[in-house]
Amino acid sequence: MNFIDTLKLRSKLFFIFSILFISLLLIGIMGTININSMKKRFDALYFGSFVPVNELNTILQTYHGNLVNTIYKAKDMKISLDQIRSEIKLSVETIDNEWKNYESHFKRDEEIVYVDYVASEIQNTNNFFLSIYKALDNGQDIRNLSLEQLERKVTYINNVIKKLLTYEIDMAKHERKNFLLIYDSSLYKIGTFLLIIIFGVMVVSFYVLKSIQSDQSALEAATKKLKLANKRLENASYTDSLTSLHNRRYFNMVYEREIKRAKRDCRYITFMMLDIDYFKQFNDTYGHIRGDAALKSVANVFKGLLKRPGDFAFRLGGEEFGILLTDTSEINSTTIAANICSAVRELKIEHKGSKIDKFLTISIGVSCCIADSALDEEVLISKADEMLYSAKESGRNRYNITTHVSVATTHKLEVESA
Ligand code: GH3
Ligand code: MG
Ligand code: MG
Repeated sequence: MNFIDTLKLRSKLFFIFSILFISLLLIGIMGTININSMKKRFDALYFGSFVPVNELNTILQTYHGNLVNTIYKAKDMKISLDQIRSEIKLSVETIDNEWKNYESHFKRDEEIVYVDYVASEIQNTNNFFLSIYKALDNGQDIRNLSLEQLERKVTYINNVIKKLLTYEIDMAKHERKNFLLIYDSSLYKIGTFLLIIIFGVMVVSFYVLKSIQSDQSALEAATKKLKLANKRLENASYTDSLTSLHNRRYFNMVYEREIKRAKRDCRYITFMMLDIDYFKQFNDTYGHIRGDAALKSVANVFKGLLKRPGDFAFRLGGEEFGILLTDTSEINSTTIAANICSAVRELKIEHKGSKIDKFLTISIGVSCCIADSALDEEVLISKADEMLYSAKESGRNRYNITTHVSVATTHKLEVESA
């Protein structure tokens, strides 16, 4: 079913509806043809066989019941001359009319010769009766009429018409049989055709729906992949490629959000500025590649120490880092800063160019406060910056913390980590 697979969803539905439409059209055409054929048969049965039987019976009845009867009555002088004449005239007219009606009906080729023969015989017989009518007109006596000739004539026409009648009845039976056969076979044909169409539509629908389903699955899989790729892209756009810490872009977003949250709930907020000591000399001594490796190791120290969901570590640029702690008191912030200083030194990354230690060290400026509505988010950063500067000034490898950020009491701690 490659053909269906290549169709688009809308085309698939259009395809299935087209098949349904064509099928219904075919059923309609077939039904009309069959019904028309049955109608023809029915006409042949009714107007070709049943109605003519009535007319032939009327003719027989008129010969026997009217004409012969009248002649017999006349012979016995039971009716007047006028009555005889009008009865003969009327009967002959009735027979003529009935015969004309009979002839106007559908005739099969095989019966036409015999029908013509019957017509000529009826004409003969009618002429015989009309000759009686004329003779009476000419004053002849009805009693001289030969009954033998009358009987012969009437018996003969009776047999001729009865033969035609038998033929018509046989044909009626035959037509009825045909009609029923055609009716049954039409039903069978339409039924079979319908079954084939239904089956065909079911098969096509099955494949179309299967194909739609697989399209849908493919679409869902593609959407899932796209979402994943978007997530990765988003993560990448917020991640520093060297250290895998959050980058400055992410910092700008998270910092503002967390400050607002802390202000709303009047909670602790801590910001740390971190800067590796004498890192220019480190690069100069060991080269940029070793410098990058050292940056990664320092970043891993942050990752190892900051595990809470409210702790964020950022690489703000070069060898400068930022740490944001939410819900962390000044005592805990102090502990974390102290731990970072000692953990970086404990990496024991050799640093011959450092003027204060034989290993790589870091200096940290910390600003911590309970956020209130008066808190200026820029101040929290600038205070941390000031603390970093003073940590550098006072010998590096240390942290300085201030809690004098907003309206809170000033604390200034200067701790050397050694
Ligand atoms: P201080 O103790 O005063 O901070 O001295 P410092 O040498 O660390 O200060 P400075 O800001 O002058 O030097 C920062 C150096 O960090 C400069 C540059 O060589 C280095 N650096 C910045 N970004 C990268 C980086 O991505 N990889 C490497 N390997 N080095 C970097
Ligand atoms: Mg620097
Ligand atoms: Mg530095």
